[in-house]
Amino acid sequence: MDCCSQPGLLPVAQAINLMRDAISPVTATEKISLTNALDRILSEAIYSALNVPGHNNSAMDGYALRHQDLSTETPLTLIGHSLAGHPFKGAVNQGECVRIMTGAVMPEGADTVVMQENVRAHNEFIQIHKPPKLGENIRCAGEDIAINSLVFEQGKRISPVDVGLLASLGIAEVSVFKRIKVAVLSTGDELKSLTENLQAGDIYDSNRPTIIALLSRLAVDVIDIGCIADDPAKIADAFITAIAQADVVISSGGVSVGDADYTKDVLETLGKINFWKVAMKPGKPFAFGALHKHDSEEQTSIDSKGWFFGLPGNPVSAVVTYHQLVVPALRYLAGEKFEASPTLSVSTITNLKKQPGRADYQRGQLSMQNGENQVIATSNQSSGVLSSLAQANCYIVLEQERSAVTAGEKVNVVLFDKFMQ
Ligand code: AMP
Ligand code: MG
Repeated sequence: MDCCSQPGLLPVAQAINLMRDAISPVTATEKISLTNALDRILSEAIYSALNVPGHNNSAMDGYALRHQDLSTETPLTLIGHSLAGHPFKGAVNQGECVRIMTGAVMPEGADTVVMQENVRAHNEFIQIHKPPKLGENIRCAGEDIAINSLVFEQGKRISPVDVGLLASLGIAEVSVFKRIKVAVLSTGDELKSLTENLQAGDIYDSNRPTIIALLSRLAVDVIDIGCIADDPAKIADAFITAIAQADVVISSGGVSVGDADYTKDVLETLGKINFWKVAMKPGKPFAFGALHKHDSEEQTSIDSKGWFFGLPGNPVSAVVTYHQLVVPALRYLAGEKFEASPTLSVSTITNLKKQPGRADYQRGQLSMQNGENQVIATSNQSSGVLSSLAQANCYIVLEQERSAVTAGEKVNVVLFDKFMQ
């Protein structure tokens, strides 16, 4: 341990590795239609059974011709039309051309398309005033996807564009891993649900709606367990109910060392704590562990236990630990193979407060000024101020051992991804 570390705090990368090592990905699969496949994880690799496009075709509206015929100025004779969906049936011979539209199949014999803007047409003849190069304006068969090529590896999360690629291959059904089930609850005597009136000292439970909304980006099944009082027996009941129905339980609040913080003790009684306390700010109190299942047939992934993630109660801490720690773990569990988000090196335009000992995930706004990227921290970095997170579009990630940063220094910036926005 170096001089800057706080004892007992786990560096973020190590926490992620420990979770990945502990978690076995879901193995159950199902076949679903492509129309329902957005954000699901492919359980098998996909190879192309077709060339896309299937034929050489025109990239322009114009005329298909033989390039060698352009060596003289002689007009070409128009012998027919090729439209998308209506190929020309014959062949182009010496001195001939075919009117062709974008996407139409290249007629036999033709090797080049001249765009119509470079042609003067007179009845059955065309005169070319700007000759194309050999092979110009042709889209070759298989240039998008070649037959028999690997299109997607197993473990790919299907994006909207991926849906388009699979559709272009005529794939109507895909094999994906079954959705994991995630139960969400919040703890705190002060929390009221949105239909209740606030008494002195009460606040609305904002973490549960936030986490449920964030989970919708992951294509998991969500079970809302509600808001639980700071009472170890009630928390234990809620954990048992939650894990009976789910592969994963996410709670918020009560995971620190306050007098009403019971989450960790209950987790220890009903399962196991893998680690607690991560060297990050916001979000030091974060618990990862396992909960035993009691007589349940609901699980999709793992034998007799499910996973537990205890988020801190402060709203910004809850979101940042969810995004930085729980999202990678859920992606592993769901069978996804993925890379970490790219990091940009950007100058900060303001000083940044920082103490060595924990990695900071400051909330920032990345923008471009005079052709240069720059980043500024949002006004209030308190872990209770959710509005500052709503104004941000990126994290300013300051390394664990770093101290205060002066304006003009380079900092690492990670843009919020779709699991955060
Ligand atoms: P705790 O982690 O339980 O000590 O809570 C830390 C802070 O977060 C306290 O100010 C709580 O009132 C607040 N908090 C805890 N849970 C929630 C929640 N579900 N929604 C909004 N704020 C919360
Ligand atoms: Mg609390």
